[in-house]
Amino acid sequence: MIRTRFAPSPTGYMHIGNLRTALYEFLIAKSQGGKFILRIEDTDRERYVDGAVEVIYKTLELSHMPHDEGPDIGGDYGPYVQSERKGDYMKYAKELVEKGEAYYCFCTKERLDSLRAHVSGDDVAKYDRHCLSLSPEQIEENLQKGVPFVIRQKIRPGKTTFHDVVYGDITVDNEEMEDQILIKSDGYPTYNFANVIDDHAMAITHVVRGAEYLSSTPKYNLLYEAFGWEIPTYVHLPAVMKDKHNKLSKRNGDASFQDLIQKGYLPEAIINYIALLGWSPSDNREIFSMDELIEAFDVKGLSKSPAIFDIDKLTWMNGEYIKNMPFDSFYEYAEPELKAAVKRDDIDLKKLASYVQSRVSTFKEIAQKVDFVDKLPSYEPELYVHKKMKTTLEMSLENLKKAYPVLEALEKWDNDSIYAALKNLIDEMQIKNGQMLWPVRTALSGEPTSPCGASELGELLGKEDSLDRIKKGIELLSGCVVSE
Ligand code: GLU
Repeated sequence: MIRTRFAPSPTGYMHIGNLRTALYEFLIAKSQGGKFILRIEDTDRERYVDGAVEVIYKTLELSHMPHDEGPDIGGDYGPYVQSERKGDYMKYAKELVEKGEAYYCFCTKERLDSLRAHVSGDDVAKYDRHCLSLSPEQIEENLQKGVPFVIRQKIRPGKTTFHDVVYGDITVDNEEMEDQILIKSDGYPTYNFANVIDDHAMAITHVVRGAEYLSSTPKYNLLYEAFGWEIPTYVHLPAVMKDKHNKLSKRNGDASFQDLIQKGYLPEAIINYIALLGWSPSDNREIFSMDELIEAFDVKGLSKSPAIFDIDKLTWMNGEYIKNMPFDSFYEYAEPELKAAVKRDDIDLKKLASYVQSRVSTFKEIAQKVDFVDKLPSYEPELYVHKKMKTTLEMSLENLKKAYPVLEALEKWDNDSIYAALKNLIDEMQIKNGQMLWPVRTALSGEPTSPCGASELGELLGKEDSLDRIKKGIELLSGCVVSE
């Protein structure tokens, strides 16, 4: 059975690249009836952030990517947490020491610093294997005395070749590798050690992760070989880029998953969009639900060229999701935005929401689309000039003056009655629909675009406010037409 794992470090935010890794891990497993494991990699205690595990949990929940198993946490199962498995790593490291594949190193920080100081130019400081030559008695004595130590991997001579699903075959000369630290002086394992132990312990078949780990993979292979364990299938993913030259990075202020949610993007749209950042379906289709992704996903569609995160594309996709949402779900998201933007209590918010649904790409855009409702914005008379409909300032003034008494006389004030009254007038005056409806729409909204047309706006705003706004339009136009 295919088993993948998502192994985030608890940093307090979900980087888009990490979420995409999680998604591909989820899809690789689920497309083949496999299991998706969650493992919190918190052995770097200096970087630990409180509340970070909750962020990971919440992200997976919102993204509909539940993990499949984990240790019992009172009736439910949690994720695997590396800091809770500290003893296991030490046990395995000692096993390697006994096998002659690893060794204790007691070198002080000062000694290591001085090694580094003697390296020139582009050379990288490699540990000089000083402690490899310690006698068993010396080692025992140091351990007895409690001298701080680390455990290092003893890199064997030769070459290491491995296959990656995305990058193909890669061969590295072992000479290039350092005797890396497996257990740190605080007793915690390094990432490089813990990931191998855990991937084996959790029977992970496909290791999917960022391409920044590609260069360390030969070292992991040597560890698998040292233990005599089966090597998993590797799937390394190219970075998600901000532009051609820069990676997307939270540190540089680029949006995390939470930031996008905060900005009014739907988790479903984010997931759909990032699925396509590095993977292409066999056809050119773009919109996929999670079930459809599971159905369509195939590692053959993964690409090794870095994908650029395009916020405009995501925004477009989010708009497609919003348009296609059932109205009730849309309203759940829209209601708080509408309530924050519209303080008048005589406005039918559901009706307003129904006009807005097809006109926004994110929920945060709603406020700006409806802020004309509470207060008519001050606007320039030029808004009345519509080239295609050939409306001029004079014509708008005249038509608004005609419309005013007709609307004032209306007894029934709803969309249909307002439209019928204006249409009558249009026919009587033998003008084009737009030549009446555009000026009325403009007077009612004070905006170059509005979520609905003249008669819907009239119904929404109510008779009194509508007449008042038309009067203001007449005043504005009179001022500029007379002075011309
Ligand atoms: N903890 C590592 C990270 O957050 C995971 C790398 C991996 O998936 O092996 O980058």
